[in-house]
Amino acid sequence: MYQNFGRFNSTDGKRQVLVVEDEQINREILGMMLENDFHLLYAENGREGLELIRANANTLSAVLLDLNMPVMTGYELLEVLKADPELQRIPVVVLTGEESAEVTALRMGAADFITKPFSMPEVVMARITRAIELSEDRYVIATTEQDEMTDLYRREFFYHYCEQFELHNPGRPMDAMILDIDHFHMINELRGRDFGDEVIRLIGRHLKRMAAEDGAIAGRLEGDCFLLLYPHTDRPEDVLEELNRTLLALDDRGRVRMRMGVYPADDAGVDVPSRFDRAKTAADTVRGSYTRSCAVYDDRLHQRELLNESLIDQMDEALRERQFVVYYQPKYAVQGGEPRLNSAEALIRWQHPTMGLVSPGVFIPLFEENGLIRKLDRFVWEEAAAQIRRWRDELGYTLPVSVNVSRVDMYDPDLAETFRSIVEKNGLTPDALMPEVTESAYTEDSEQIIRAVEELRALGFRIEMDDFGSGYSSLNMLSVLPIDALKLDMSFIRNMCRGEKSIRMLELMMDIARYLDVPVIAEGVEEESQVQALKAMGCDVIQGYYFSRPVPADQFETFIKEELSKC
Ligand code: C2E
Ligand code: CA
Ligand code: CA
Repeated sequence: MYQNFGRFNSTDGKRQVLVVEDEQINREILGMMLENDFHLLYAENGREGLELIRANANTLSAVLLDLNMPVMTGYELLEVLKADPELQRIPVVVLTGEESAEVTALRMGAADFITKPFSMPEVVMARITRAIELSEDRYVIATTEQDEMTDLYRREFFYHYCEQFELHNPGRPMDAMILDIDHFHMINELRGRDFGDEVIRLIGRHLKRMAAEDGAIAGRLEGDCFLLLYPHTDRPEDVLEELNRTLLALDDRGRVRMRMGVYPADDAGVDVPSRFDRAKTAADTVRGSYTRSCAVYDDRLHQRELLNESLIDQMDEALRERQFVVYYQPKYAVQGGEPRLNSAEALIRWQHPTMGLVSPGVFIPLFEENGLIRKLDRFVWEEAAAQIRRWRDELGYTLPVSVNVSRVDMYDPDLAETFRSIVEKNGLTPDALMPEVTESAYTEDSEQIIRAVEELRALGFRIEMDDFGSGYSSLNMLSVLPIDALKLDMSFIRNMCRGEKSIRMLELMMDIARYLDVPVIAEGVEEESQVQALKAMGCDVIQGYYFSRPVPADQFETFIKEELSKC
């Protein structure tokens, strides 16, 4: 009878219904008619009814309401319910003897009415059931419940449904799982959007079946990200493996795979969205890993989250107290005889009062997430410009310094103006301060990034593309990108010792740079042999521990003085 049931039901499939009726005989009749199909609650007047409704707001599927009662009438109760945004979704079926009252009640927001004396039980049942189904459908439509492509629940509805499910199934431990596809953007790019859509649909079908068979709830967050509330298991990787096996149907070489993060069931009272946030935190730890594809949120991750939060809280104070220090790492031009100091890269460090020197790898990604990075980057650019000026004044040498520009900064409409005013304030020309923009920023929103870069170049700034080879710029795109230097991603240098293939890769990068007519910078160079090989391939500039680690400004002076002695 209930096609739609299975939504807000408890384990035994019954919904909860409240009967508000002052006459005992009527309560008893309704009880007999309905108790096999519903969990019934009873109230003897409007006020009692309201209390019960408030106490069961999340689980109640319908209210049967008598209109004429002592203490608080049905009309009064109806008025309160319909004015309360939390309670108005609960359908009210009015119990009445007079036709005129029916009309009034319907106007006031009642979903339906049942006339007294009660007619056939079938009619009463049908009216209540229909009222419930309609109200649930309306809720569903209002939240555009299902994702069109997969038929899985969308985020809001998914969370809401999980909450309902748990309210009706207390004590049943459920794990929060989040799944996404490895390198989905690559799959889309290489094999076409239609194939990508096919992958999403197949996953959707699999998850739906799993939800039905295993008593789970499945949703689609966005893009290639899926949510699963799953009965607790000690082997979540089995769920993942089953999915991956299904995906073999689309690619029998297993190149389309998913990865997963899990927040296991616990009784700490963490709300549903936060549990999925934590599952996501766990999933992020296996991003880019070739060996692991499933991670479970544990205490170590929790501690890290707490640490992250405290770093975010402390940033402003740290800026005020000058705990952030800019280090400089030299870059050397290597073509020609002896290496010559070419420029430096400014790299931030946090001199934390209790944690010691904290590396940017820890806090930069955090600050990028919430936009705090803009403040910090601006600080670094100003420090670096002031330092260039100081060296010029004290040593008579203008050393160009490149600074990192986060992808977040690229969306700032005042970016070019900020750079211009910083160099102007320090009496420098734009070629002294070089913005480094990571390649993956270009692929994210290329139009916006290109616009920002063009504005900077129009003012005379030279742009380095950082981490080249880590993003997925196509050759086509590269040829139109406004850039002045390519900085190879460190992983290529690290892999040099691995032989032929990686060397050929490097040679290819050099060819691209020659084609674009820009110099190539290699960073992360630690060994003499790497320097020689890169030099032979035509690499122009080298940065790395081989020459020096990043050092504070006063130590960096040595490199400038040394360079001056060569002139
Ligand atoms: P990046 O821009 O790619 O910077 C290069 C990183 O490689 C630096 O790490 C540098 O210390 C390290 N490195 C240099 N030579 C070698 C070497 O020979 N071997 C090895 N193993 N590493 C080497 P660092 O300073 O920890 O910075 C990490 C990342 O943090 C940077 O990567 C950059 O993305 C970000 N970052 C640093 N400072 C800033 C900043 O002021 N603003 C922004 N937005 N990001 C920054
Ligand atoms: Ca950089
Ligand atoms: Ca880099």
